[in-house]
Amino acid sequence: MTTEIKDLDSTTIEAFAAQLRGSLVTSKDAGYNETRKVYNAMIDKRPGLFAMCVDVADVMASVNFARDNGVLCAVRGGGHNGGGLGLCDGGLVIDLSGLKFIRVDTANNTVRVGGGNLWGEVDHATHPFGLAVPAGIISSTGVGGLTLGGGVGHLSRKYGLTIDNLLEADMVLADGSFVTVNKNQHPDLFWAIRGGGGNFGIVTSFKFQAHPVKTVIGGPTLWPIERIEEIMAWYHEFIQQAPEELNGFITTMIIPGPPFPDSLHNKQFCGIVWCYVGDPAHFDTLFQAVRDKAPIFEHIGEMPYPMIQSMFDGMLPHGLQWYWRADFFTELGPEVRAQHLKFGSSIPTPLSQMHLYPITGAASRVGKEETPWAYRDAKYAGVIVGVDPNPANANKITDWCKAYWEALHPYSSGGAYSNFMMDEGQERVQASYKHNYNRLVAIKRTYDPSNVFRVNQNIKP
Ligand SMILES: Cc1cc2nc3c(=O)[nH]c(=O)nc-3n(C[C@H](O)[C@H](O)[C@H](O)COP(=O)(O)OP(=O)(O)OC[C@H]3O[C@@H](n4cnc5c(N)ncnc54)[C@H](O)[C@@H]3O)c2cc1C
Repeated sequence: MTTEIKDLDSTTIEAFAAQLRGSLVTSKDAGYNETRKVYNAMIDKRPGLFAMCVDVADVMASVNFARDNGVLCAVRGGGHNGGGLGLCDGGLVIDLSGLKFIRVDTANNTVRVGGGNLWGEVDHATHPFGLAVPAGIISSTGVGGLTLGGGVGHLSRKYGLTIDNLLEADMVLADGSFVTVNKNQHPDLFWAIRGGGGNFGIVTSFKFQAHPVKTVIGGPTLWPIERIEEIMAWYHEFIQQAPEELNGFITTMIIPGPPFPDSLHNKQFCGIVWCYVGDPAHFDTLFQAVRDKAPIFEHIGEMPYPMIQSMFDGMLPHGLQWYWRADFFTELGPEVRAQHLKFGSSIPTPLSQMHLYPITGAASRVGKEETPWAYRDAKYAGVIVGVDPNPANANKITDWCKAYWEALHPYSSGGAYSNFMMDEGQERVQASYKHNYNRLVAIKRTYDPSNVFRVNQNIKP
């Protein structure tokens, strides 16, 4: 049975508060409505209590409080999750935003990061040393959620997913104990957290392998949406044989406004966003194949790595309405391309878009059972997002997103990247972990048999 925070007496809450160095935020506090906001403004959950943790001891006390009182708990890292899985109604939110620290070890090219850091903070800290950790493409995304689900981005082809660069994690488990996991200590847990999400405990610190990345050459190229079938067919062949230094994810999108030229505004495009981490001297020769496809617009240049990592931040600030759907794809055959033309030509709002991220190169060389991330042989992690500032458009963006997904799903590999899903039920979670699901269940039974950590893409014990 689940107890709501409102059903607990004040002495229980006071005793909890006394154990924390961080603060509690209740529904009666002035800051409550601000505190319950997450990145996706479509999420409107009303937690009973927030524990604003500032150290590992706070996290341990919070887990013990939730478990002992039978209170539902959610864990919030960066708060970016599409389905709002960093919040829960009526229960306790264990907020990690005060758990931030970054230490770059230049002797070993590794980085130690707090459980509540954001990726922009990590990029800022590693950049002066000419280092980067593979992550996602928006700098305000949390390290916690992105890493535990997998981590796809500009460096995936060259250096793998974020989980392929995770060396160690400190965790608070469901019984309140603290463990360090790596390939030698608790190897089963270390396996499970490289894709299995927040199911197994709360990570209070991550240790990553970083790589020599200082400046990159990148940016978008655009073609009119009418050319998407031809461009997508060409891209499918090109990106698989291109040197791994070059990454490019393909999109259907609208150019919403500046900094793009006026002539492009509010038109629908097939875009590819490139990021090259190889020798700049070789770029133009390699990129000639793209230029031969005569993009209508090209904005490619050399820039510091943190710049490409935050290139789309301004376009996608906190507080927009988001509806997400996702699947992995192996082929982009004629039927698939026809659907991209159809739905790419009817994008409902300027910020709604579809992305296909290549899972080739280093990301595809990790075995399908080496981590829970089962679709290493899929060629793309696809995501469709309906996005708009106006809540009145919520149905419009949701309907387009669902219809686009339904048209493509029959051609998909069957499951989706868990970080690109909202709350889609147990069958989808199972399909997404595929052959690795039963092993995840066994580990869940060992470390969280009563499913304390269930506000996530849940592996049921
Ligand atoms: C604009 C935008 C762009 C994105 N781009 C990318 C991308 O390029 N590549 C990519 O791979 N993904 C991307 N994502 C998806 C992103 O990986 C997920 O939304 C992820 O869940 C965000 O993590 P978070 O910590 O910010 O989220 P939260 O909402 O805080 O948490 C998400 C889940 O992770 C759990 N969690 C978070 N931190 C911890 C922790 N320290 N310990 C245990 N559990 C934890 C939470 O309990 C919850 O279940 C993007 C999302 C958005 C909104």
